[in-house]
Amino acid sequence: MPSEHDLVIAGGGPAGIMAGLLFARAGCKVLVLEKHADFFRDFRGDTVHPSTLELLRELALLDEFLKRPHDEIHQLTARVADRQIVIADLSHLPVQSRFVALMPQWDFLDFIAQEARHYPTFTLRMEAEAVDLLYAGNRVTGVRLKGGEELRARLTIAADGRSSTLRAKADLPKKDLGAPIDVLWFRLPKEPTPVNVTGGTFGAGTLVVEIDRGDYWQCAYVVPKGAAEDIRRKGLEAFRADVARAAPELAGAVGSLQDWDEVKLLSVSLDRLTRWWRPGLLAIGDAAHAMSPVGGVGINLAVQDAVAAANLLAGPLAAGEDVDPLLHMVQERRMFPTRVIQRVQKVVHDRILTPLVVRKAVLDKVPLALRLFEKFPVLRRIPARLVGLGIRREHIRSPDAGLRRAGRFPP
Ligand SMILES: Cc1cc2nc3c(=O)[nH]c(=O)nc-3n(C[C@H](O)[C@H](O)[C@H](O)COP(=O)(O)OP(=O)(O)OC[C@H]3O[C@@H](n4cnc5c(N)ncnc54)[C@H](O)[C@@H]3O)c2cc1C
Repeated sequence: MPSEHDLVIAGGGPAGIMAGLLFARAGCKVLVLEKHADFFRDFRGDTVHPSTLELLRELALLDEFLKRPHDEIHQLTARVADRQIVIADLSHLPVQSRFVALMPQWDFLDFIAQEARHYPTFTLRMEAEAVDLLYAGNRVTGVRLKGGEELRARLTIAADGRSSTLRAKADLPKKDLGAPIDVLWFRLPKEPTPVNVTGGTFGAGTLVVEIDRGDYWQCAYVVPKGAAEDIRRKGLEAFRADVARAAPELAGAVGSLQDWDEVKLLSVSLDRLTRWWRPGLLAIGDAAHAMSPVGGVGINLAVQDAVAAANLLAGPLAAGEDVDPLLHMVQERRMFPTRVIQRVQKVVHDRILTPLVVRKAVLDKVPLALRLFEKFPVLRRIPARLVGLGIRREHIRSPDAGLRRAGRFPP
């Protein structure tokens, strides 16, 4: 049966939507499938890093993007033993936007999807869940949707996140790096302040990350893996007291937590596929490598994968060429940054988070590494560069087939 689409992408997260935009811009007929009815889901990270902002600038979309309501983080801090220390300073990055833009992920996805709709070759289908792969011999030829509908494409991209159905169906081998922590996410109200103070409070066996969103804190309370059920059993009152003890600056606000529904569990995983592709199929984003929340880099890594995939594949796919021989190049390009960032995340898990929240170490004085950031402010540029720009940063090299239509499109 002939393929109706050049490309079917399962998953309308950062990786899938960005890939959809870029492949459609190159002239490929693209269908993105998203199993939810909208992008408005649970909190899943709101950070758009300088590397992604720079890609939007290269696509001439940055000014329009920054018109949407957002906050900006210019520095990251750590609060230890009652001292607040700046550990990353983004103001020296060699890019136009030297800050992390905080924007709800659904707004970010909506923005990219709106832009993608300018291309007549782009289609986004909501409430469409890919449940299986179609094969011709050993080659993937598309997906089967829940309900039985079959969609054929010359290339299928699995961008369906860290519990990817398609990577399991494709039997792609996975390496699990383990993660000693889980995270409880919740919002607490705050008074707006002139300066955004985002960072972590390290206490006696505790860590609370507080992301300043203007009139609320987005909080991450780090717990040992599997401990969340126990914490719930002890009740909300005990949890509020734990949070107030761990981060005294939040003591006045924890009373606003009235229901466990306001507290979401992020089961942290750290893994990667050792092979990201098979003929007819490529995995990108969390589907290829689930990231720890350490550094808040998952969205940006997913976007970088999408850009690399489009750089290598979109032109040949649009020209009707067989891209199977090129799929390995996407993995080769993106494996290095994935490994380095996961290595750093694992070191943070093993050297900082395990002693602190699993073995309940008490940080009663500021560790040497943090004191060095105070003594030599230039050192703050190193974490800023790693978090803000990542490693092996991608640039838009995929072709623009010139198909963009003017005007506004319905959601
Ligand atoms: C609570 C939480 C907080 C986080 N905080 C941050 C942060 O601050 N900064 C950061 O950079 N990263 C953060 N992350 C990680 C970040 O969200 C992910 O790394 C990033 O979203 C990965 O993008 P993705 O497109 O690969 O996958 P996802 O964002 O997971 O998107 C996958 C999409 O596919 C859809 N889907 C799944 N299965 C199917 C299917 N079978 N068919 C069709 N559609 C399907 C899903 O509904 C989803 O929309 C956080 C994650 C969580 C859970």
